[in-house]
Amino acid sequence: MTASFLFTGIILLFDWKNQNWLESILLLFIVAIFLFYRKQSLANENHLHALLDNVSDAIITIDAKGSILSVNNAVEHMFGYHLSELLNNNIKKLMSAPYKELHDSYLSNYQKTGQKHIIGKTREVDALRRNGEIFEVELWVHELNYKGSVQFMGVIRDISERKHVDKIKTEFISTVSHELRTPLTSIRGSLGMLKSGVLGKVPEKADRMIELAHNNTERLINLVNDILDVEKIQAGKIELKLESINITDLVKQSMASNDAYAASCQVSLQLEENTANFQVYADNQRLQQVMANLISNAAKFSPENALVSISIKKENELVRVSVSDHGTGIPEEYRNKIFQKFSQVDSTDTRQKGGTGLGLNITKAIIDHHGGHIDYSSEEGKGSTFFFELPEYHVPNLKPTQEPLPSAAGIVTTIGKKVKSHGHILVLEDEKDIATLLSLLLEQQNFKVTTCSNSNDAKQLLEENQFDAITVDIRLPEQDGLSFVKEVRSKETGKCIPIIIISAEAELNKNKTPSALRIIDWIDKPINTEHLNKALQQAITKSPNHQTTILHIEDNSDLIEMMSGLLANKAVVIHAESVQSAKEKIASETFDLIILDIGLPDGSGLDLIPLINEKKPLVPIIIFSAQVVEADIINQVDAALVKSKISNEELVDVIKKLTLSSGNNNV
Ligand code: ADP
Repeated sequence: MTASFLFTGIILLFDWKNQNWLESILLLFIVAIFLFYRKQSLANENHLHALLDNVSDAIITIDAKGSILSVNNAVEHMFGYHLSELLNNNIKKLMSAPYKELHDSYLSNYQKTGQKHIIGKTREVDALRRNGEIFEVELWVHELNYKGSVQFMGVIRDISERKHVDKIKTEFISTVSHELRTPLTSIRGSLGMLKSGVLGKVPEKADRMIELAHNNTERLINLVNDILDVEKIQAGKIELKLESINITDLVKQSMASNDAYAASCQVSLQLEENTANFQVYADNQRLQQVMANLISNAAKFSPENALVSISIKKENELVRVSVSDHGTGIPEEYRNKIFQKFSQVDSTDTRQKGGTGLGLNITKAIIDHHGGHIDYSSEEGKGSTFFFELPEYHVPNLKPTQEPLPSAAGIVTTIGKKVKSHGHILVLEDEKDIATLLSLLLEQQNFKVTTCSNSNDAKQLLEENQFDAITVDIRLPEQDGLSFVKEVRSKETGKCIPIIIISAEAELNKNKTPSALRIIDWIDKPINTEHLNKALQQAITKSPNHQTTILHIEDNSDLIEMMSGLLANKAVVIHAESVQSAKEKIASETFDLIILDIGLPDGSGLDLIPLINEKKPLVPIIIFSAQVVEADIINQVDAALVKSKISNEELVDVIKKLTLSSGNNNV
């Protein structure tokens, strides 16, 4: 600046001498303007620098090769480097694996293809401090065009503290979930048993107290479950198991599940006529939860003897489910609050209707996650209609829907996708076509099959493998089927194995054969598939008098006692309170079902799943835990139940269903 003044002064002096003073004044004026703007722009630049240096986010610009061009103060604080150690260095200096290795290819890929993978997006990545510490950051990258050359600007936010707090919060929530759900489950279970009278009659006054305690336990459980659900939704952890669902079936199911509650409010539920069959692509249990909330609200806020009607309609490719009541209605001033957390029109301590004020918040989050829309119309004193809309799903070939396990209001059960082999069958049959047919039939029923055409091979296979049953043809080359059975029964290893005769002469030989051979069944050729299935079920179930044995892996003594009470006279319940003792029992005993808790004193119950799934025939597993399990775990088991979200009756129903499917019918 001083130089420009000197330079201008000399010119002015020269011009003045030449008497060209007008020109001199003009020049002076131009220089003054230039100097003014330059000062202004320097001031702006300094201001901008000061601003950038005072933001807490780190801001870095790099060139197209990744070389650092500028950094603000926060970069030095965040990463622990001095400015001089960063300028002209590659940005990879601040990155940890695997981002470090990938960065060059990101840049060159972008230059070659123009495809933006990270530009314009906010991502969570790991960064590397000077002291070697890896920490989590949120990174936003933007492309700049500066004086004709490409540059990239990265804005980096240190989120390690936030992540740490999140972790503590998650741990706290999971502790609360476990600590509250488990005792509440045993309280409710025990009160439920007292209430149902299975433990004997209690005096009338005590009965009233039990009823009171039971209802309040329900309220507490609902609150805990709602809080945990909200937390899960907030953390973005809501996982949807999307499938094609017939909405009418779903609505009917949820009406049935909530009918008892409606009846307790002296309200009847009605499905409007002319409901067509629409499919939606949704999570069955989450939609049941939505319906449960809308139906229970409608019933709760209706007067006695009122009707709650439910309709299913299609409007512009959207399937709309509405729940209408003739209840209290909602004052207009609540319109913006009704879907918010803990929002209740009557929030006084003395309010008549129970509830947490969380239901509609959860309901809205579920519908939003499905890409749907929820709203309501209401007139105070006249009633309300809550409705949600989901896109119609067009299925090319409709398959029959899977029969769901019992479920009430809320997420109760999750059906696992474990492919169950019902056992390993040895087929002794010399006719190739029949052997192939039998294999196909049995494999369709999920049996593992090994075929052989003569008794010698069969004996060898029996020595080398563990079969759950054998089917034997009578007419065989070399040794006939019945003498083969005699030989098998004479050996220690073959005394108990179930045997079924499948022969064109089955009926003929049935009465001539001594009962000591303990043939489970005689099936004539051509084979009646139903007869064969029945025989095999019986074979695998060992004997009709077989007592269902359940292994209950659980460390909470109250819950152990409750389960024993619940299944008394229905099954033999063996307990294991740790992973170690469960391992020993699984290895040495045979069970028809395993009920598994996750949090055990010496480890996670989940570690036992591979071991259980190795058992032949496969043992059904129910996870019964305070935690909600991830989808990949659910696929390895038969059902995942959340403690406190399932009633005694529902639990017994699931157990019944699973023990029946494994061939037992005693529960
Ligand atoms: P909760 O029912 O557990 O209190 P919700 O979130 O489901 O919580 O509902 C919040 C509030 O919205 C209720 O307390 C009630 O004031 C109002 N509300 C919801 N549904 C209805 C309805 N069908 N009729 C009247 N008020 C309703």
